[in-house]
Amino acid sequence: MSGRLAVIGLGPGDARWLTAEAQAELADADALYGYGPYLDRVPARSGQARHASDNREEGARAVAALRHAAEGGKIALVSGGDPGVFAMAAAVCGEIEAGPPEWRALDIAIIPGVTAMLAVAARAGAPLGHDFCALSLSDNLKPWSLIERRLDAAAKAGFVIALYNPVSLARRWQLGAAFDRLGRHLPATTPVIFGRAVGRPDEHIEVAALASAKMVTADMATLVIVGSPQTRVLARDGRTALVYTPRGMAGIDA
Ligand code: SAH
Repeated sequence: MSGRLAVIGLGPGDARWLTAEAQAELADADALYGYGPYLDRVPARSGQARHASDNREEGARAVAALRHAAEGGKIALVSGGDPGVFAMAAAVCGEIEAGPPEWRALDIAIIPGVTAMLAVAARAGAPLGHDFCALSLSDNLKPWSLIERRLDAAAKAGFVIALYNPVSLARRWQLGAAFDRLGRHLPATTPVIFGRAVGRPDEHIEVAALASAKMVTADMATLVIVGSPQTRVLARDGRTALVYTPRGMAGIDA
């Protein structure tokens, strides 16, 4: 008997950002797997088993969920934001590639979610209105020298840059180093958006110029968006500013 594994994006936090498809998959599952705090966001249903695991156990969690699905279960593996963005969907694909042939026969569904970058961008205005890219600043899975090369290339190419995983308990200097690196290519006035815990009760959005971005506190729950030279801050009386990147490059030399 072959089961189903749905890898489900829960969005950044606000229950209204959980898609109807994700909700239906969660309700339908025999068992849920995921990082504890993410599982806590899913309403309990009797008869549905829950397997919470630690943040760092991605591979083991994927294997456990795949084994359970291979036994015939309808399994939901939850992820924050979108499961395909620096998250569980790629871990599952990697384990399927390395695993027994029967895992390739499983019904695998990746259910998209609102990724943190989009939620933070929406709160700030429209910073992703023109070309952008996303990088994880974590050097757990790649060397720091590669991150520096990609920051250089992205800034030189004029992309707006979203930075996932800017800081963790073990990685404290990387974000400051990234700002220094970007400062080699970008104006000191480039707007930098810090979106912390977006969609959760302790949400906090802050905008700073690149030159003073190092002074702003960021943590594991923060997503940083560094503007391009075209990104603008539109001040408004009595309301928060709108940070946006114009849709076109009219008047800019190729
Ligand atoms: N799959 C997730 C990203 C996982 S990487 C997604 O699509 O959003 C983890 C990083 O995502 C965090 O370090 C932080 O940079 C960002 N992040 C996740 N949830 C967030 C939230 N609610 N607010 C701001 N950033 C968040």
